[in-house]
Amino acid sequence: MTEQLTRSSAAELAAAIRAGDTTSVAVTQAHLDRIDAVDGAVHAFLKVDAEGALEQAAEVDRRLAAGETLSPLAGVPVAVKDNIATRGLETTAASRILEGWKPPYDAHVVEQLRAAGTPIIGKTNLDEFAMGGSTEFSAYGPTHNPWDLDRTPGGSGGGSAAAVAAFESPIALGTDTGGSIRQPASLTGTVGMKPTYGSVSRYGALAMGSSLDQIGPAARTVLDAALLHDIIGGRDQRDQTSLNTEWPSFADAARAGHEPGAVKGLRVGVPKQLADAESCEPGVRESFEKALETLRELGAEISWIDTATFEYAVAAYYLLMPAEVSSNLARYDSVRYGLRVDDAGAANVEAVMSATRAAGFGDEVKRRILLGTYALSAGYYDAYYGSAQKVRTLVQREFERAFSEVDVLAAPTSPSVAFRFGERVEDLTAMYYADFTTIPANLSGVPALSLPSGLADGLPVGLQLMAPAREDARLYTVGAAIERALDTERGSTLLAAAPELKEGAR
Ligand code: GLN
Repeated sequence: MTEQLTRSSAAELAAAIRAGDTTSVAVTQAHLDRIDAVDGAVHAFLKVDAEGALEQAAEVDRRLAAGETLSPLAGVPVAVKDNIATRGLETTAASRILEGWKPPYDAHVVEQLRAAGTPIIGKTNLDEFAMGGSTEFSAYGPTHNPWDLDRTPGGSGGGSAAAVAAFESPIALGTDTGGSIRQPASLTGTVGMKPTYGSVSRYGALAMGSSLDQIGPAARTVLDAALLHDIIGGRDQRDQTSLNTEWPSFADAARAGHEPGAVKGLRVGVPKQLADAESCEPGVRESFEKALETLRELGAEISWIDTATFEYAVAAYYLLMPAEVSSNLARYDSVRYGLRVDDAGAANVEAVMSATRAAGFGDEVKRRILLGTYALSAGYYDAYYGSAQKVRTLVQREFERAFSEVDVLAAPTSPSVAFRFGERVEDLTAMYYADFTTIPANLSGVPALSLPSGLADGLPVGLQLMAPAREDARLYTVGAAIERALDTERGSTLLAAAPELKEGAR
């Protein structure tokens, strides 16, 4: 029974709770037990809040018993990436500099979760301040991929993706600055969505690159991601980039994808620069071709399109993002938050600040602060930051051009399947370059969804779909249609293929 509870989708769990077939406390306890059994091996969580989660669950059960109508996900537990502020619950962004910091406030999305009655079971691991693509830059040790514990789950949101893939939580929140929701989804066989920039409030998300950051859902099905997006999305006055848009129900959009003919006549463009055979592993390319074939069978029209400026997106991102990082991380100054290294010898406040930042930040964070400070410095500003901004505009125009011809763009989410620990940390350029498939969507703000397209050598491959800004609903419809078709075709879901983790093994 407990196993069945952790294997169910969030939509199924919510329905069972509503029908009185189970309770939020039972569902939450089942996931806490699962965490106990496997998180020693996976390390998806930095903090598990059993007490808080069970309290929230009991409250939901009480309100349902009293006949209250709650949100469509009421009672379903959720995990939250540890760069999103949770009141009274330690939030570190996987950095030593914030060790022990308990935010005095909730992020907007966390307020929404609490109002929706989804118990928060814990905070998930990430690369320090979301800078990385493997969780190897977490100050508290990496997360292991549930499909193969010797491999990374991707990053930076590897903890949220692994928690969902290992059945430790049915749904989770991530943040995506250059791919941190989508690439881990791809590497763990789960679903991840980067919403349109401004669709979900960033209030309370620990800023990395403010013009790129976006909070979004991680789940095992497209419908579950849509249900979670419905809860966290919408206008918030406290985020000045929050869009004043009437959003449709994303859950309804996902359900529409289950209707026959949902993608008939859909025009799908494949950006050459993102799907090129040279830059993708053969297994990834094969799975991608198969997904395109499935789309064709469903009645979509596929065309390959040239998106030449996408080639410069990675270079532009690795100037713009560090520039914003250097400014955003200036607030960790030993005075306002977390760590303070105050050696008796420190002569003045600058000395304390610099000792604190030297001890509190890891190498990758320091590298990006240095790079960003340099790119913004007088005399270099035009050459680096200014040029990168121009490239960003060109990438935006490329998307506009593409979307004047097609309805969605499709590409592999990641050029490779899950890689082994240590494989990329020695070659940072390779690590950075591997983001070329996901970064264009962040530079332009368009929504992008990753869903499983199959396996290559027993490891998951992700398919990425992109749509024009504010057309998030379209991605849920198309994604749900493909998800259903691929499952039917293989006669089983990726989930059924997921290997059983050896309990507690490490
Ligand atoms: N891997 C990318 C980076 O290292 C993306 C990170 C993110 O989206 N937070 O910057």
